[in-house]
Amino acid sequence: MNIHEYQGKEVLKQYGVAVPNGKVAYTVEEAVEAAASLGSPVTVVKAQIHAGGRGKAGGVKVAKSMDEVREYASEILGKVLVTHQTGPEGKEVKRLLIEEGCDIRKEYYVGVVVDRATGRVVLMASEEGGTEIEEVAEATPEKIFKEIVDPAVGLQVFQARRLAYAINIPNELVNKATKFMLALYEAFVEKDCSIAEINPLVVTGDGNVMALDAKLNFDSNALYRHKDIQALRDLDEEDEKEIEASKFDLSYIALDGNIGCMVNGAGLAMATMDIIKYYGGDPANFLDVGGGATTEKVTEAFKIILSDAKVEGIFVNIFGGIMRCDVIADGVVEAAKQLGLTKPLVVRLEGTNVDLGKKILSESGLNIVAADSMADGAQKIVALVK
Ligand code: ADP
Ligand code: MG
Repeated sequence: MNIHEYQGKEVLKQYGVAVPNGKVAYTVEEAVEAAASLGSPVTVVKAQIHAGGRGKAGGVKVAKSMDEVREYASEILGKVLVTHQTGPEGKEVKRLLIEEGCDIRKEYYVGVVVDRATGRVVLMASEEGGTEIEEVAEATPEKIFKEIVDPAVGLQVFQARRLAYAINIPNELVNKATKFMLALYEAFVEKDCSIAEINPLVVTGDGNVMALDAKLNFDSNALYRHKDIQALRDLDEEDEKEIEASKFDLSYIALDGNIGCMVNGAGLAMATMDIIKYYGGDPANFLDVGGGATTEKVTEAFKIILSDAKVEGIFVNIFGGIMRCDVIADGVVEAAKQLGLTKPLVVRLEGTNVDLGKKILSESGLNIVAADSMADGAQKIVALVK
């Protein structure tokens, strides 16, 4: 799960990570009030969306007067911001962070991530702050320094210091930077983050080390033990279909294609998307209905797939191990009847109660194309949506 920058900064503050004073605002009036209460000569008006690259897209503005705060807040609120992370459709700005302007001496990058290769938490840092770390990694990989953390002892002080020196933090501020990294690491571990990225971390004119931006992602599987983090979820930032799916405990991820997929098991769902691609099609979603799905759950899954306007056909690919094929068939028939399905539907069933499942489908009066195998089904649905 993703949260906003201002929320991330609140979380980090609890661990002693230095951040500028700031307040969230939902309206222009609130923005002006927030700026007045901060009372700093320079205020920064920042769009709050779950995507980076806001600065370049005009979502971060430096205001030198209350009039400018009002002007920028009116301009940014309600604007659809298109950054390299939002996709071409962009994201509408509904919240602002009104923050003290910071006297930046230099920008750096610090990130904590889980490194899949070593299976460990890695702290990364670079002197090239402000720019996207992917670009730095591409153009000047030698400017990214890493420290791998041994989980038995956690991030060691010497490791944080070594990183601070490696990225050329001014000598007199190395202690502050070290503390900063240790606090960031502690927050990452305690809150079960999957990413904690500070870009930029800055050294200020008055000798402070601060997080000017904060991107925190959390491991959804650990959210049950962080009610405070769960409360920060912003449904406006999430795909409606994914929210609906999560209510029914369905693993659904919206994609860009036109072939809706209903599959049981994450591995089979991945393989189904692959085989659709292989035969020249494009999946509209990942969907794992799970092992013990009920007819109701299957019906809901089907509705979610069809609520996607891009979907031009559906491929149901079920291997009934724990899942029974008749339950799937009932769900498909129920949903198709409720929704008046007119789009092509290809079904491949295999496994427990497969004959009963096929019987339910063939007696349903629905126009269903039966497939003998995964490859057969994928080819059929690709041909039907062409
Ligand atoms: P994004 O990564 O989405 O572009 P950032 O929060 O990193 O957004 O802001 C972009 C840039 O704006 C920063 O690199 C920094 O130069 C400037 N900036 C952000 N916040 C402040 C602030 N409080 N004071 C001064 N400059 C800021
Ligand atoms: Mg940034």
